[in-house]
Amino acid sequence: MLQILPASDRAALVASRDAEAAHVLPRDTLKGGARRPETAFIRPAIFTIMPKVTIYENVCKGCALCTIVCPKKLLAIRSDVLNAKGYRPVGITDEEACIACASCAKMCPDSAIEIEK
Ligand code: SF4
Ligand code: SF4
Repeated sequence: MLQILPASDRAALVASRDAEAAHVLPRDTLKGGARRPETAFIRPAIFTIMPKVTIYENVCKGCALCTIVCPKKLLAIRSDVLNAKGYRPVGITDEEACIACASCAKMCPDSAIEIEK
């Protein structure tokens, strides 16, 4: 049965809903860490989708142009790898922090980076 709440109760309901919406998860919980019970709630699926960064190491020539344009400074030339062409390719330091802006992919002259959102 539909129940109409008095205006004062509706205001209280809206206030409590807004307070819940304003509840922000600590950063560690966004990376799959344990959630504290008082902050646990079901997040919409859109916030759990991670961008995928694919670097074609054998195409990369290590020019480092992508490292300059990344706003999050997530790309770096790898000192531990030589590719088939004898170049040191770029690598991503923290894929989880990528915001999928695709600046790196657009900048790369050799299309060695692919971003999937
Ligand atoms: S997509 Fe943007 S944030 Fe992610 S690695 Fe490339 S430049 Fe950096
Ligand atoms: S811009 Fe392209 S070729 Fe240059 S380092 Fe980055 S991925 Fe490699």
